[in-house]
Amino acid sequence: MEDCIFCKIIAGDIPSYKVYEDEEVYAFLDITQVTKGHTLIIPKKHVTDIFDYEDTLAAAVFARVPKIAKALEKAFPEMEGLNLVNNNKEIAYQSVFHSHIHLIPRYGKDDDFS
Ligand code: 5GP
Ligand code: ZN
Repeated sequence: MEDCIFCKIIAGDIPSYKVYEDEEVYAFLDITQVTKGHTLIIPKKHVTDIFDYEDTLAAAVFARVPKIAKALEKAFPEMEGLNLVNNNKEIAYQSVFHSHIHLIPRYGKDDDFS
């Protein structure tokens, strides 16, 4: 979709640090690392938010979460936990309107994200 930052990332027109990719899904590091390894999972098809998904695509995207969580755990063995966040629409703090799931690794009580 024109003027969508995440579609441009998928197309390779905007650089990103890839964490995972398959036919339906792309995962990459968030440009603003809330914590080390903060990753976004997105469908390759432009979907605006959770209300815009077909069941089959939602199943594909959400099914990748454990695989990518385990990859992060392997890359960052000091990780102690993980928050999943999915903001939908402006009122809920969505700022990029190509649906995405945040994976936010947690490293203990001393990091300042709560
Ligand atoms: P939202 O607020 O919509 O849930 O999250 C959007 C996320 O996209 C933010 O955490 C923001 O840092 C990230 N983001 C915005 N633009 C870019 C970009 O060009 N590259 C990457 N890697 N992340 C981006
Ligand atoms: Zn898009």
